[in-house]
Amino acid sequence: MSVFLPPDVRGLLLYGRIFNAQAEFLLKNKRVPKKAEPTIIPRPDHTVSRDEISKNALKVLYRLRKSGFQAFLVGGGVRDVLLGLHPKDFDIATDAHPEEVRSLFANGRLIGRRFRLAHVRFGRDVIEVATFRAATDGSEKDVDVSHDHEGRILRDNVYGSIDEDVWRRDFTCNALYYNIADFSIWDYVGGLEDIKRRRLVLIGDPDKRLREDPVRMLRAVRFAAKLDFTIDKSVEDSMHGHQDLLKNVPAARLFDEFLKLFQAGFAHETFTLLRNYGLFGQLFVQSDKALEQNEKFLEFVQAALVNTDRRVAAGKSITPMFLIGVFLWEPVRRRAEELRSSEKMSVAQSLNIAAYEIAGMQQSRISIPKRFTAPMREMLAMQPRFDVRTGRRALKLLEHKRFRAAYDFMMLRAECGDFDRDAATFWTDVQKQDDVQRATSFALDGKPASRRRKRPRRRRNPAAGKS
Ligand code: ATP
Ligand code: MG
Repeated sequence: MSVFLPPDVRGLLLYGRIFNAQAEFLLKNKRVPKKAEPTIIPRPDHTVSRDEISKNALKVLYRLRKSGFQAFLVGGGVRDVLLGLHPKDFDIATDAHPEEVRSLFANGRLIGRRFRLAHVRFGRDVIEVATFRAATDGSEKDVDVSHDHEGRILRDNVYGSIDEDVWRRDFTCNALYYNIADFSIWDYVGGLEDIKRRRLVLIGDPDKRLREDPVRMLRAVRFAAKLDFTIDKSVEDSMHGHQDLLKNVPAARLFDEFLKLFQAGFAHETFTLLRNYGLFGQLFVQSDKALEQNEKFLEFVQAALVNTDRRVAAGKSITPMFLIGVFLWEPVRRRAEELRSSEKMSVAQSLNIAAYEIAGMQQSRISIPKRFTAPMREMLAMQPRFDVRTGRRALKLLEHKRFRAAYDFMMLRAECGDFDRDAATFWTDVQKQDDVQRATSFALDGKPASRRRKRPRRRRNPAAGKS
């Protein structure tokens, strides 16, 4: 791409006044960053055009600027446009404090404790506005920053300037700032070069940065899969000793990360990388063990991931409960077998109980909201019903509110030899049939229907049916 400045031009284009003032401030405060001078790439020398930036993000940028604040587009919004991709969201960095941002926008509100941000809402579109973070060394007292004993950042709410903020960002490719004042890009860390070379490099000491926030390992994998970047050796080496640190990350945050990892259209590649880096087992402990032992299960999971990516590419809807069900399927099935060997119960019953138990254990790693675990259990417990192809109860399966998900799940099983293919074809065909044809398919004529007809219900307690 011709967007990149040759290295010898870099450093010449500086905003001297601003940076002299900042350098003085930083020296006084003994917070001298590694390098306070960005390379500034003027508009004609890069490809980030306002046409590629959402109208809402531009509105926020302009409003901040008009109100006398600095306003930059940062992160994926700049990175993806430089790569010729469409950013999924736009993040803004500013020297306005969160409260100031909120007061500028009627549709603004503050979120987050660990990392306070302003969200500006335009219908379903949310623009995230972050105030520049200061480069603290952790030794200062009385500031809103805290770490746990492993070095993990628990809170990070000390505000600073752009040339402090840059060192708090994760990867160099995510630390490019697009300035709404003159449409230039500010690069402090060689991010443009790393985008050009398609590599993920952590800013600063990788060990320290992963300790501060172990989720950065997941982010490395996610970006590598999405952008087809290589994870730099320095980051890779560091990741190898640090997988365990993910245990300290709150399960609710890991659920959010789970969604980003598997719903962005690169689930299959992400999964492969997560396993290669020993990270998948940190998220799905039981599934990871089952994958090691069972090649067929691995095939099934991979088929589901490929399928998910295809759906995303086609703009079809996806639900996290489906993939969670896929990941937990083998552990659930094993547990269901155990249950049946110790107690008399139906396969469906055992699957339902097993799914409840396994999903419960899973919560300690990734907290999955109930609105997903409940339908997931239903989807898994419905699987044995596809074995039965005659009678009214079988026909009724077509009307079940989870039929579609359970059917898709069953089709994946069939694809991997885990379910009879003829039976799978049967369930595909009957969906296209009318009532008369279905009556024949499900052998409703004559014997099975009449034998299975329900006895008229005798109501002993009239309130019973109302629950
Ligand atoms: P995408 O939105 O495409 O997933 P992104 O890079 O924009 O990618 P976001 O999660 O939206 O990622 O975060 C925006 C920016 O905030 C990042 O580019 C990065 O500069 C910074 N950031 C986000 N999470 C972290 C983190 N855990 N550690 C350090 N910096 C982070
Ligand atoms: Mg983003």
